[in-house]
Amino acid sequence: MKNLEWGKMSFSYTKTDYIIYSTFKDGKWTPAVKTADFNIALSSYAGVLHYGSSCFEGLKAFRGVDGKVRLFRPEENAKRMIRSAEFLDLPAPSIEQFVEMCVMAVKANAEYIPPYESTASLYLRPLLIGSNPQLGIRSSVESTFIVMASPVGTYSGDKILVPGTAVVGRNHDRAAPNGSGSYKIGANYAQSLHPYNIAHKQGYRELLFLDASTHSLIEEFGSSNFFAIKGNTYITPNSHSVLPSITNASLRTVAQDLGMKVEMREIPLVELDSVDEVNSCGTAVVITPICRIDDKIRLEDELPSHVYKFTEECGVKSRALYDQIIGIQKGTLDDRFGWTMFVDC
Ligand SMILES: *Cc1c(COP(=O)(O)O)cnc(C)c1O
Repeated sequence: MKNLEWGKMSFSYTKTDYIIYSTFKDGKWTPAVKTADFNIALSSYAGVLHYGSSCFEGLKAFRGVDGKVRLFRPEENAKRMIRSAEFLDLPAPSIEQFVEMCVMAVKANAEYIPPYESTASLYLRPLLIGSNPQLGIRSSVESTFIVMASPVGTYSGDKILVPGTAVVGRNHDRAAPNGSGSYKIGANYAQSLHPYNIAHKQGYRELLFLDASTHSLIEEFGSSNFFAIKGNTYITPNSHSVLPSITNASLRTVAQDLGMKVEMREIPLVELDSVDEVNSCGTAVVITPICRIDDKIRLEDELPSHVYKFTEECGVKSRALYDQIIGIQKGTLDDRFGWTMFVDC
C-alpha cells in the first residue's frame, strides 16, 4: 500500500498508476489495455469536443474489515452507462466489459486502495466519449471507454457527515422536463458549473434545483439526489429529470428494511417546512446532512425570500441509514442484499 495521507484526502484527484482503455471501431471493441499514459490521443474533430457526446459513471472500491476489496453494485453503474449512451446514440460497453474494466482498474491501482480504518476509498471514474473525427452534427460512430481510479476522502477530509447549507435559485434550471436530466452525461454538468460557482461564492455547499416548468417541486442537487425524513417516512422526488442515484435506491431499500415507509413522489418546496431531516446523497460521500436551505428568487439575490431549517447535525434516522450503507460497503455488516463484489487483489 502506498504511504499517502489518507486522512487528509478530500474529494479530489490523486494521481494513480494506470488507466484502463478500450475503443469501439469498425463494429467492435478493442481488447482493454492497461496504460500508464494518462494522455489519450484524440482528433481535434472528435465529437465529444464539439457536441458533448460524453457520459460517465462513479463508483467505489473499499477495503473491508476482513482486508478484502469490494466494489459496490458495479452492474448498476454499467446499466446506467448503457442508458446514458443510448440517449447519446453512442456505442457502449456491455455490462460484462464495464465490470471487467472496473476490476482491472482496481487491480492495477491496488496500492491506492485506502486502509479499512480511513474514511477514504478508491473512486472509479468510467468515462465514455464519442471519439471519431466529424464535423457534421450527428452521433459518434466510434467511442472510447476509459476507467480511471483515484483515492478520495469526503468533502471535509476524514470527517464524515459534516452538515452543509444549500440554496435554491429559481433563475437557473438543471434539466428540462423532457430533457437529459436522468442521464449521467457531461452536458448536465456543463450548465450547472456557473450557478454552482455563484452558490459557492456565497458560502453554500449545495445548490438545489427545482422542476424547470413550475419551479415549485424539488428535483435534486447538482451532483446528488435529495431525500428527506418526515416522521418515519423516507421521501424523495419522483421525476423524469432526476438522475436515478444508486445511493438513493440503496438507501430506500435499507430504509424499508429498517421498517421505515418510503415515498417517491412530488415534493413541493414548501413541504420543507414540515420535514425533519434533509440530506443530499450520492456515491461520493453517501449522504451529506443539509441543515438549512435558503430559497432565493434569483440566485444572485443577497437575501433569501424564505429560510428552511432542519436538524443542525446529521439526524438520527439519516445516521442509521448511513451506517447501514457504509457497513455493507466495508464488510462490517452482512451483505444481505447482495450488493458487493469481491475483487481479488
Ligand atoms: C451521479 C449523480 C448522482 C448520484 O448518483 P449515485 O449513483 O448515487 O452516485 C446524483 N445526481 C446527479 C446529477 C449525478 O450525476
